[in-house]
Amino acid sequence: MRVGFGFDSHELAEGRPLKLGGTLIDFEKGLRGHSDGDVVLHALSDAILGACARGDIGVKFRDDDERTSGLDSKEIIKFALSQAAESKMKLRNADLVIVADQPRLNRHYESIADSISEQCSVPPSSISVKSKTTEGTLVSRNAIACFAIVLLEEM
Ligand code: MG
Repeated sequence: MRVGFGFDSHELAEGRPLKLGGTLIDFEKGLRGHSDGDVVLHALSDAILGACARGDIGVKFRDDDERTSGLDSKEIIKFALSQAAESKMKLRNADLVIVADQPRLNRHYESIADSISEQCSVPPSSISVKSKTTEGTLVSRNAIACFAIVLLEEM
């Protein structure tokens, strides 16, 4: 068993869809980023890579690479899982804390967890999704961040 930790944060901007964990969330702003800005999948991918000591997603998906502009972050999590498989490891469970003052995410926990469980081929009960508001004290009120911790087990 190996533990991994990841973090990411992106700014909210008008005119972009809000995607968290690969799920579309109905909100008037979305996350600005070179890819689709999905902080949940980015933090989770970094946690998986961290558990295998295989660097971070920025090495493979550079933010100055035109080819990955607007990339669906499901490709990023796919890459992280393939790296884990090369290390003969697979995801056992993940605990995610999304930091967002807006929108309120409580009613989306289940759809986010379902989406991630499908992408990672684990039962929904292996994915915990929580959120926190911090009144702008940790993350800007106009941003969303995510902390992810994972446990990988040998295949
Ligand atoms: Mg990111």
